[in-house]
Amino acid sequence: MQKTILHLDLDTFFVSVERKLDSRLLNKPILVGGLSDRGVVAACSYETRGYGIHSGMPMRMARELCPQAVVIRGNAGTYSRHSDEVTEIIREGVPLFEKASIDEFYADLSGMDRFFGCYRYATELRQRIIRETGLPISFGLSVNKVVSKVATGEAKPNNQLRVDSGYEKPFLAPLSIRKIPMVGDSTYQVLRNLGLKQIRTLQEMPLEVVQRVLGANGTTIWKRANGIDNRPVVPFCERKSISTERTFDRDTIDVRRLRGILVAMTENLAFQLRRGGKLTACVSVKLRYSDFNTCSKQARIPYTSADHKLIPQVLGLFERLYDRRLLVRLIGVQFSHLVPGSYQIDLFEDREEILSLYAAMDRMRERYGDKSVIRAAGMGARTIGRMHNPFDGRPPVVLAHRKQ
Ligand SMILES: [Mg+2]
Repeated sequence: MQKTILHLDLDTFFVSVERKLDSRLLNKPILVGGLSDRGVVAACSYETRGYGIHSGMPMRMARELCPQAVVIRGNAGTYSRHSDEVTEIIREGVPLFEKASIDEFYADLSGMDRFFGCYRYATELRQRIIRETGLPISFGLSVNKVVSKVATGEAKPNNQLRVDSGYEKPFLAPLSIRKIPMVGDSTYQVLRNLGLKQIRTLQEMPLEVVQRVLGANGTTIWKRANGIDNRPVVPFCERKSISTERTFDRDTIDVRRLRGILVAMTENLAFQLRRGGKLTACVSVKLRYSDFNTCSKQARIPYTSADHKLIPQVLGLFERLYDRRLLVRLIGVQFSHLVPGSYQIDLFEDREEILSLYAAMDRMRERYGDKSVIRAAGMGARTIGRMHNPFDGRPPVVLAHRKQ
């Protein structure tokens, strides 16, 4: 059956939120990110694009390129709240949607056209988001995810574009190969070195040739260039979570040990988040006393995957939860409200050193195992995690389990 897939993307999301909160920022060049010289640009307004500024670049360099830009220290909490607002409107409007990042959504509108035109429906949904949140958003509508995403990019800023069924290839043909969502810097260079510029050329090349040049990704990139994409819209579910818990052989009242285990659990789950390219917006801690009374507390937090944001949340919940001072039989940590995303939303407070520290720690974990780098506070918790225990060689007591 022919599908109708909508892709929605908020325009320069962080910048738009700042402008909504302070209209003096309208039409001015804006940089959002860390304020210190070592900070990083998390988002920039269209007015700065002509200066060669892009997100991820050191703030110092961006300020040199565009000295007149207004520099704003971002606030992950504010952006998370606005992201939730938009999510709620989409949830009310469409039965099946996917939250692809904090500012990006896919919706499957297939079958809706019989009683309501999909394009009209998408238009009204977009207008409603703009009206109720005050944030500009663009959409692309087509038969699949990749064509809709490219269409959104072509529609921006603050507009919409429909690609009629059967016109996927001609729509993509004149665009730069860079516009194919999977084509990053290195693939782009490979293709440019071959003299490729427009998607049209890639469309005309035989699949085998593209496979030979691009290796494993060749097939997917060739298909995308040809407007072929069968990926389904994966329903967004806030209950999706990762968690870990531990039952003690002997119940314990040793608060320091409990805290240490919670730190180790949080570190391990945060690493799993980062490895999976996910952010969490809800943390919960579970506690079971020796009398089997179980309680849990949760907190909504700004989207993050950073240990140093998550650990204080988890320990704070534990302090509020552990009020009976009785023997504890089980403790657990869970992260939910997961969305795809990377450090970007944490860039405001985090300086380059912290980001490279995380990258270095995660690389060591990839190579030598989850427990190769741990916080001193979690050292006591020897048996958390997926890898075998490096200290005594026994198998792990707890496995972090994923619920999808
Ligand atoms: Mg966006």
